[in-house]
Amino acid sequence: MREVYIRLAYKALKEGIEIVGPSYFSNKLGVSKPTAQEALIKLAEKNYGDYIPKKGFKLNREGIEKAKEITMKHRLMECLFYELGMSPEVACQEATRLEEHVSTELVTQLRLFFGDRKLCPCGNKIEEEFEDLEVEELEEGL
Ligand SMILES: [Zn+2]
Repeated sequence: MREVYIRLAYKALKEGIEIVGPSYFSNKLGVSKPTAQEALIKLAEKNYGDYIPKKGFKLNREGIEKAKEITMKHRLMECLFYELGMSPEVACQEATRLEEHVSTELVTQLRLFFGDRKLCPCGNKIEEEFEDLEVEELEEGL
């Protein structure tokens, strides 16, 4: 699974873009549009959201939860690489390259190690808070 797609879809959602098309991902990730589209369809098949033909991908509640997890992992890895002396930008690139290969054990370890840290090197909160959307989703479900 290409976790980076979930993370980027979530980032877009936080910026107000609810449905993200393949070209968004192909621009950000430097992959072809068909590759991006295929990845998005796979994510929908795995129940992380819906793929709306000719429009794009929309995360569902499960997808959002997964995205938060992946985002935290990404930011913990950024902290690690930053400690190794990389710039925030390079730390982010390295984290993107490696994030989906990291075991839960390593994530737990990083979380303990950076336990007192609130922000990643780029200044984002390590633990995502996105309550507004959760409330909205809940209301929709009622
Ligand atoms: Zn960061």
